Amino acid sequence: MNLDRTVCALATPPGTGGIAVVRVSGPQAYEMVAKVFTPRAAGKTVAGARGYTAMLGHFSLRGQELDETIALFFRAPHSYTGEDVIELSVHGGSVMAESLLEALCLAGCTPAGPGEFTRRAVVNGRMSLTQAEAVMEIIAAGGRQGAALAKTALDGALARTIREIQTGLQSLSAHLTAWIDYPEEDVPELQPAELTAALTEARTRLDRLIDGYGAGAVLRRGVDCVLLGRPNVGKSTLLNLLAGFDRAIVTPVAGTTRDVVEQAVQLGEIRLNLFDTAGVREVGEDGDAIEAEGIRRSWRKLEEAGLVLAVFEAGAPLTEEDRAIAARCQGRPALAVLNKQDLQPDPAALAAQEAALRPCFARVLPLTARDPASLPVLSAAVAELLGTARVDTGAAALCSARQLAAATAARDALAAAIDSQAQGLGPDAAGVCLADAQRALAELTGEDATEATLDEVFSTFCVGK
Ligand code: GDP
Repeated sequence: MNLDRTVCALATPPGTGGIAVVRVSGPQAYEMVAKVFTPRAAGKTVAGARGYTAMLGHFSLRGQELDETIALFFRAPHSYTGEDVIELSVHGGSVMAESLLEALCLAGCTPAGPGEFTRRAVVNGRMSLTQAEAVMEIIAAGGRQGAALAKTALDGALARTIREIQTGLQSLSAHLTAWIDYPEEDVPELQPAELTAALTEARTRLDRLIDGYGAGAVLRRGVDCVLLGRPNVGKSTLLNLLAGFDRAIVTPVAGTTRDVVEQAVQLGEIRLNLFDTAGVREVGEDGDAIEAEGIRRSWRKLEEAGLVLAVFEAGAPLTEEDRAIAARCQGRPALAVLNKQDLQPDPAALAAQEAALRPCFARVLPLTARDPASLPVLSAAVAELLGTARVDTGAAALCSARQLAAATAARDALAAAIDSQAQGLGPDAAGVCLADAQRALAELTGEDATEATLDEVFSTFCVGK
């Protein structure tokens, strides 16, 4: 990324809308915008505009006046990127915004790369890398709780927590170094118990962050969900309940749902990325080839899914297919839905069915997929199962796989340091592991982030952010 360049991009989503905002950032932002934008009021100029002010005017392309424009001015370093920034609002739809971008490029601007504005903010010290990742998570959040979690990270809660851990480790490491390297200086000895206690405290704090990652990720990004069951148990009906309209074709004929249907639906605070399945059934030698492929895909999805909803007909004796499904759900984040409760199944049969299924499922839930009142019940059960009901959105949380990997590396290095003490290996060994942990934490916060890391983080951003 070349900070000498002045970049421009559309900041609002493409498509029809009230307004479109084009953002310009860089050392020549004012100079270049002045070539494109003409203020309406006599005597006003772009060059003379102060930060945090707005100006009405129009923009021109190749000498032709095109659209009324509002320019919003920011002066370095008081802007999102820390550079001179001007935001230009024109009428929505893509024509005006594209013409404005063309005019800006003719004036010398370069189109911004994905996430380039936020990357500039990081490079210019306006925000940390973890905060930049939080920006992306806010944009991508699937629900209010997920957005709140990302906002907490944007406010710097994670950066603060990591800094506290780093400060503790730094003083520990300074003490160890002084003690090992300058034995003649009479540095007080660090008692092994003291060292282990300090290492354990840091490890526990990292453990807490790592343990909370899964539920936080579900709130921020949603969860891949597989819907399973033999034909006619009510999978399509359940899908329609979730989707709120007739997405899947519901018929009383077995095997109409042939393929894996993908659809995102909101269940309370959680976005479910749904995969409806071919009706799961035995396929013999002369079985239907298309359906067999559908079933194979369902099984594969089951392995990868963050949530499995397995549907059974309440009170009906478990068939071989039912048992095969249940067996595959063991150890997975799976919920057994005992559907068609409105048909009032025999209580003894229901109890037997529940008892048979319970060992294979995290939760067994009686339900009537046909009844919209079932939705909040299902929502609460899923939130409980995935741990999202217990997430404190005001607390520090890891919000990317990159952060999780770095935190895990730091935690493992601390565990190795603690181990070395338990084995009586002396302070040198602890010092080496401690240095590893510090490196991993510096990678997490972005202090030590390489160009390659920054490239990777920002490649997932949208252009214009
Ligand atoms: P799928 O093959 O598993 O997708 O099952 P469908 O959703 O197509 O449902 C099969 C039949 O069961 C249809 O006639 C549905 O109307 C019916 N059904 C589904 N859910 C319920 C329910 O909660 N109560 C009752 N009484 N019938 C249901």
